Amino acid sequence: MTTLLEVRDLRKTFSLQGRRPGAPRQAVRAVDGVSFDLHSGETLGLVGESGCGKSTIARLLLRLIEPDSGSVRFDGRELVGMSHRELTPLRREMQMIFQDPYSSLNPRQKVVDIVAEPLLVHGLANRRDVRAQAIELLHTVGLSTDQADRYPHEFSGGQRQRIGIARALAVRPKLVIADEPVSALDLSIRAQIINLLQDLQEQFGLTYLFISHDLGIIEHVCTRVAVMYLGRIVELTTAEALYAAPHHPYTEALLNAVPVPDPQRGHARLILHGEIPSAANPPSGCHFHPRCPYARELCKTDYPELKEQAPGHFAACHFSSEVGKYRVG
Ligand code: SF4
Repeated sequence: MTTLLEVRDLRKTFSLQGRRPGAPRQAVRAVDGVSFDLHSGETLGLVGESGCGKSTIARLLLRLIEPDSGSVRFDGRELVGMSHRELTPLRREMQMIFQDPYSSLNPRQKVVDIVAEPLLVHGLANRRDVRAQAIELLHTVGLSTDQADRYPHEFSGGQRQRIGIARALAVRPKLVIADEPVSALDLSIRAQIINLLQDLQEQFGLTYLFISHDLGIIEHVCTRVAVMYLGRIVELTTAEALYAAPHHPYTEALLNAVPVPDPQRGHARLILHGEIPSAANPPSGCHFHPRCPYARELCKTDYPELKEQAPGHFAACHFSSEVGKYRVG
């Protein structure tokens, strides 16, 4: 198993203006010491409520924003501290698929030109045959030659996501970071896009970091899952182990939020109450303690480190062996 991406102790704090006029600026720890590996050919799911820092991680990995500290090694090369000139050829190997493809597609460009552009920018095609290559990519994602000369507004949400995927694939990346790629789509279209992503992974040997707030989607897509809460990873293991027996109460609550066919099974549910706390002022000790039904005094003062609780199953919880009593299903 080759490691394509190695992330160690990644940190990013934003300084935000307070809400009231004259209020002091607040330091928001968006990513607070995150470490994980991504193996070649696998799909790692990064899951958590909105605001937990998962999209910030995506941007840090691509160096769209600069980390405060930590290490990101991609294919053996350290990206943190690398000059933009050194970074440019590596960016080709790391592509992103966005939640809302429409906002990332130039409305004045024909679809064939949108897909052709990265081929030309990175010198992967010449002007004579770039159109043929772009059309072949459109075929790969399930669009037809007839659609090549249309504009983005003439397509449905699912088709626009296919265009975004074709553009990402154009530069033959090794790693694709998919940030909520199906959240904005109708339920009926989601399965099609997920199937497409899985087919392309097999065809092109892609490695995916799949970001989602929905464990229901992650289950169908990912080999391993990292669960995030307030800027930290609180559980990390294989998808199979996570869904069979979570070791963190937050994961248990997220799993209980996934709709089940039999509502009668809901009586012992752990339901999350309240909003995710502000990362500008996180709770003391374990950040999850105000929402956690397993919490005790220790949890209010001591932050639990991410530890291996079972072979290959990591969780940050003082009482992880007790987790499961609210589990549905
Ligand atoms: Fe809950 Fe305590 Fe575990 Fe945190 S450490 S998840 S508060 S039981």
